[in-house]
Amino acid sequence: MALCKRPAADLDGVQGGSATSCCKRRRLRIGSTADYDKMCCLGEGSFGFVFKARHRATGKILAIKVLRSRDVINGEPAVAAANELLHEARFLEAASAGNRYVVASHGLVRDLPTKNLCLAMEYVGPSLHAFLHQSPRLPESTVRSFMWQLLSGAEKMHERGIVHRDIKPANILVGEDGKIVKMCDLGLAMSLTTQPLYTEAGTLPYMAPEMLLGKPDYDARVDTWSLGCVMAELITGETLFKEGRDETGQLLDIFRVLGSLDEKTWPEFASLPRAAMAQLLLQLEEREGRQHKKNLDDFFSEEMLSDEGFQVLEGLLTCNPDKRLTAAAALKLPWFAPPTVQPIKNVAPATPAKKAPPKMKNVLLIKWNIPRAISKKTKKNVLRVSLAMWTKAQINNIPPAAALKNKKNI
Ligand code: ATP
Repeated sequence: MALCKRPAADLDGVQGGSATSCCKRRRLRIGSTADYDKMCCLGEGSFGFVFKARHRATGKILAIKVLRSRDVINGEPAVAAANELLHEARFLEAASAGNRYVVASHGLVRDLPTKNLCLAMEYVGPSLHAFLHQSPRLPESTVRSFMWQLLSGAEKMHERGIVHRDIKPANILVGEDGKIVKMCDLGLAMSLTTQPLYTEAGTLPYMAPEMLLGKPDYDARVDTWSLGCVMAELITGETLFKEGRDETGQLLDIFRVLGSLDEKTWPEFASLPRAAMAQLLLQLEEREGRQHKKNLDDFFSEEMLSDEGFQVLEGLLTCNPDKRLTAAAALKLPWFAPPTVQPIKNVAPATPAKKAPPKMKNVLLIKWNIPRAISKKTKKNVLRVSLAMWTKAQINNIPPAAALKNKKNI
């Protein structure tokens, strides 16, 4: 079902894009796997596997990703595999610096027996894909918290000109017993500082319509589309657009839910490379009466998602990228607004009064024989008693010492 494509390693975007100074090539420190005790395999992807390891000297638990070298020539791993890992390592460093919602990089390590390069990362926890398998229907409050974290992580990445291009539940990790989510696997990430002739990359069910249609100058909004697909999956536990076997099949699946496109809703649509094919298939579907049977809100009842939550989902899953929400814009919507605090009545005005109120207002100073222990502390033979308390004590004829000992009784 999921089609992944990893393009040839492209290091240009992380070498010296002026707009993305954080992506500049930095010398990476390379450790050795001999410094770690291998614990268990955490996961296997199309391009390698990830194992859990303990750093012998510090006891720190990390996740180490090893790319499968497809060819080993004279004992040296294929250059392409090493380049792919370097590509991922650089993008991970650039995207995760000061960004809590992207897995932190711990640099490169070399596996001495195979000479393979490996990528060390903070260990987080299971993937969101595995997490959703265990708890397929999350409450809206959890969906909102996860989406806030993912959009915040994406916002920072996008500010740096980095596009992840493969956001999906398998590339999101859940840590701290379900409290935190972090994006991982930047193997397909690209920099927007490279000249646009961008190719298709990612996983079909999470791929944005403009990428499926062959738009060569897509931008960071391909990620916000994927985040919309992730949000839908967080709510229902099901992949929203899962039927596509190829790009046009995937497009039809999207149009069946969101309605077909025209020049009004997306003026650029007709000029995109695969638009003619998509339109032909759409017309065929319409003729057969199969087109647009459902609406997006048919999938999400009010018990599942509030109107404010739906506003975010609909904004992320907008076919026309020019009208789609960016991560920054999504975070400003009311769904993410902090709960409003009721103003407290009778509070002092914000601007302080010119003349400070007398300190001793409604307070009596009573000269009194204070036991030593207290007088040592206060260093004064004086007690401060509120006027109300004092008056009450006077009415009830209670001596000051007793009144102060048992305030409640006066
Ligand atoms: P894909 O086929 O999705 O591209 P990949 O080979 O590039 O996979 P990753 O997606 O990076 O590999 O990782 C595969 C799996 O390993 C993840 O789904 C997750 O279960 C586990 N994993 C990766 N990084 C970590 C980490 N930092 N902490 C815990 N588990 C991790």
